[in-house]
Amino acid sequence: MGGLRPDYERLLRPLVGDRLLLDEPLARYTVARLGGPADAVAIVHSGAELLKAAQLAWAEGWPVRILGGGANVLISDAGFRGLVIVNHARLVNVSFSGLVYAMSGANLIGVVRQCIERRLAGLEWAIGIPGTLGGAVVNNAGAHGGDMAGCVNKAVVATPEDGMHEWPLERLEYAYRDSALKRRETPFVVVAAELRLTSDADPDALRARADEFTAHRKRTQPPGASLGSMFKNPPGDYAGRLIEAAGLKGARAGGVIISPVHANFFINTGGGAAADYHALIRLAQDTVRERFGVSLELEIELLGEGLESA
Ligand SMILES: Cc1cc2nc3c(=O)[nH]c(=O)nc-3n(C[C@H](O)[C@H](O)[C@H](O)COP(=O)(O)OP(=O)(O)OC[C@H]3O[C@@H](n4cnc5c(N)ncnc54)[C@H](O)[C@@H]3O)c2cc1C
Repeated sequence: MGGLRPDYERLLRPLVGDRLLLDEPLARYTVARLGGPADAVAIVHSGAELLKAAQLAWAEGWPVRILGGGANVLISDAGFRGLVIVNHARLVNVSFSGLVYAMSGANLIGVVRQCIERRLAGLEWAIGIPGTLGGAVVNNAGAHGGDMAGCVNKAVVATPEDGMHEWPLERLEYAYRDSALKRRETPFVVVAAELRLTSDADPDALRARADEFTAHRKRTQPPGASLGSMFKNPPGDYAGRLIEAAGLKGARAGGVIISPVHANFFINTGGGAAADYHALIRLAQDTVRERFGVSLELEIELLGEGLESA
């Protein structure tokens, strides 16, 4: 690229039209409403656009990231030098037989609702999880004893070296909030996924189950802008318990506090910055390591300039 700005305009404008935005603040594409600008944002509306935009970026050697709902990423205040593809490829096809085929930009909670309406059981656990199907496939999202590993039949994945292929469940190598995709150091894009659920369930029973999960979330998790759970639970323990035992409930950096309700949730009380989140992440990791000898591993991802890995 010889120090010149990549030619996003020439290559992406024909693909996405006015959905190409230059120097675009990323805060509006994240749940925590945080994050500085990306050099370019391309909002894609179909699986074909998603694939094409990613392939263009790979061919041109542009730094590129896919954002689903932005529910699991902390984007730095300085933003991202490169292209961010915001995935609004939302087509969902729910069959009464139990197979659900959806584009990766489908809203996960929306997919849960459609499954319940079509009498399909097995995805109710995901009723409170913000973000897209693609983000959930990458992260092996889970709650209330369920997770994507228990639902995914296959994912349609494209990589620069290998083109687009169906990855069966085994190839995704799911583990706790982890997958072969998440561990990859080279680029990939999840274009779509197929879930296998149980057909002919009683929709009232499914609704009651989903309502129970929602009520449980309301009882145990603090309201307000957050990134969900900040750290993974270490084996045999809970990140929230350890942070609380380290005396950090209510600790504050700028506009962000460690929730007095649940210490694994860091709340943006207004005007919080990514730097404030990062300071509290460090504080929690350092204090818990000193007090209990436990290293807390981030559940969220850090993205963008100036956020060294924590
Ligand atoms: C209030 C709250 C509660 C939450 N509760 C839970 C919970 O109970 N359980 C749980 O597991 N998580 C939970 N989360 C975290 C989050 O909702 C999940 O991780 C979710 O699956 C993220 O999806 P997303 O589309 O927002 O992904 P993003 O945050 O947009 O992306 C996450 C990662 O996946 C990559 N990615 C996304 N889509 C694609 C794609 N199509 N192709 C390639 N890469 C892609 C991104 O580049 C990034 O690396 C919670 C978050 C919040 C804010």
